[in-house]
Amino acid sequence: MAREAVSIDDGTKDYIPLRKKYNSKEPHIADQPMTWGNWYKHINWLNCTFILFIPFLGCIGAYYTPLQLYTGIFAVVYYANAGLGITAGYHRCWAHSSYKATLPLRIYLAAAGVGAGQGSIRWWSRGHRSHHRYTDTVKDPYSVQKGFWYSHIGWMVIKQNPKRIGRTDVTDLDADPVVVWQHTHYIKSALFMCLVFPTVVCGLGWGDWKGGFIYAGILRVFFIQQATFCVNSLAHWIGEQPFDDRNSPRDHVITAFVTLGEGYHNFHHEFPSDYRNAIQWWQYDPTKWSIWVWKQLGLAYDLKQFRQNEIDKGRIQQLQKKLDQKRATLDWGTPLDQLPVMDWDEFVAEAKNGRALVAIGGVIHDIASFIKEHPGGKAFISSAVGKDATAIFNGGVYNHSNAAHNLLSTMRVAVLRGGCEVEVWKRAWSESKMLMDSTGRRIVRAGDQVTRTAQPVPMVSTVS
Ligand SMILES: [Zn+2]
Ligand SMILES: [Zn+2]
Repeated sequence: MAREAVSIDDGTKDYIPLRKKYNSKEPHIADQPMTWGNWYKHINWLNCTFILFIPFLGCIGAYYTPLQLYTGIFAVVYYANAGLGITAGYHRCWAHSSYKATLPLRIYLAAAGVGAGQGSIRWWSRGHRSHHRYTDTVKDPYSVQKGFWYSHIGWMVIKQNPKRIGRTDVTDLDADPVVVWQHTHYIKSALFMCLVFPTVVCGLGWGDWKGGFIYAGILRVFFIQQATFCVNSLAHWIGEQPFDDRNSPRDHVITAFVTLGEGYHNFHHEFPSDYRNAIQWWQYDPTKWSIWVWKQLGLAYDLKQFRQNEIDKGRIQQLQKKLDQKRATLDWGTPLDQLPVMDWDEFVAEAKNGRALVAIGGVIHDIASFIKEHPGGKAFISSAVGKDATAIFNGGVYNHSNAAHNLLSTMRVAVLRGGCEVEVWKRAWSESKMLMDSTGRRIVRAGDQVTRTAQPVPMVSTVS
């Protein structure tokens, strides 16, 4: 019986370009191996022109063009505005809907963002949603698993098969006239906001047409592109992973400084619809500060924020995982249920034959290597050999420290059959079943060692 193809309706659909449809019948060039005969077909020449060739020419131009003070100041101010267009607009407003912006703010963000030369809101957000949905997989359009440089710039310089990129839903963006207008008029608006506008401002403002074109236009766009690309590369490469280390996003202050606050990327991938990237007041996140100011001015509303309770839960779980990993590297002694059982008589006989065995809490320890190092002196510890020293170890002679109980556990060699047996196995059960970490290893908390008793206990011979 022929099976019908089942498509799961998960609310997403394949991305349909608004203007041009690619021919889906021919195999895409990205799916063909690169050879000497076809390498130039693999290159995305349009992207190369905008992100490599023009900046290169700009650098040459800058060598022959002195930088004027006003042009420099304007370039920096315009850089910050275009940067915000990307971080507060493209990223946090449109790609993640982490807050709502009024029409004047959306127009400003769309116009400023176009001036960063990073594609339309619609194209950018679609790729970014895919990046979040399929992080580190083959469907991630800029997966860092394909290498640092691929995630930074390679994915734009080399043609990608759009069908490979994980599908996402952009219907909400198609319903925003600002997004649709910007997408349909992208090339014209990009040329205007990237190059014409800064040239005209510097030219009409203080007569520096050439400097405006090179510094406030070409080189400003180049720097802002490289800064944003760092979110895809650097933010998945360097830094801490306080919330989840099962995929690549990381938090680092350097990435935050480079990207107007987008550097707390481990947090961001965990809580993508939070309007913040940095959650501490002292962390650098000017994008968050701007959104907050816009809210005060009535330009932004519905700022989304995860409850601190949820954030702390994630942080604690990751801390617990790190603790478990650290614990696994330590010697906690052989687990009780893996130790052989020894009779009292056998224990006494072995001790008489010269083995330095001591019974404490129903567990037999071989203390031969430790006798000389015993801080309480050789005499006391030697006198315990061949005996049940539970009481003297727990206060009868000296109430040993937590560290002493920990050290003692590394000397375990057997479990004593006899009076303490039931109690010991009950403890063994609790040790193995009740206190396990996520990797199935036993947790021994301070004061919970099997050799520790709350009160000095009578000798084994008197236990019924
Ligand atoms: Zn990311
Ligand atoms: Zn994001």
